[in-house]
Amino acid sequence: MDDSVYESCSYCGKTIMPGVVQCPYCRNYTDDKGPLGMDAPRATPRWFLIAGTLALIAMLLFVGFPLIVAVVSWLMSLMS
Ligand SMILES: [Zn+2]
Repeated sequence: MDDSVYESCSYCGKTIMPGVVQCPYCRNYTDDKGPLGMDAPRATPRWFLIAGTLALIAMLLFVGFPLIVAVVSWLMSLMS
C-alpha cells in the first residue's frame, strides 16, 4: 500500500481517498484546517517584505544615480 496515494483526514487522522471533500469517518470537510492538518496558514514572511523594499530602493538608486550624475554634469556645463 502506497501511503502517498492516500490522504489522511486532518480531523480524525484516518486514511481517506484523495480528492474527497468530506471525510467519511468524521464528516468533517477535508480542507486541511483540522487540528491534524499539515498545511498551517503561511503568512507572508516579514523578511520578504523587507527584502522587496530594499530591492526597490536599490533599483531606484541604480536607475536614479546616472540621472543625478547627468543633471549635475548638465548644471556644471551651464555654469562654465
Ligand atoms: Zn475524518
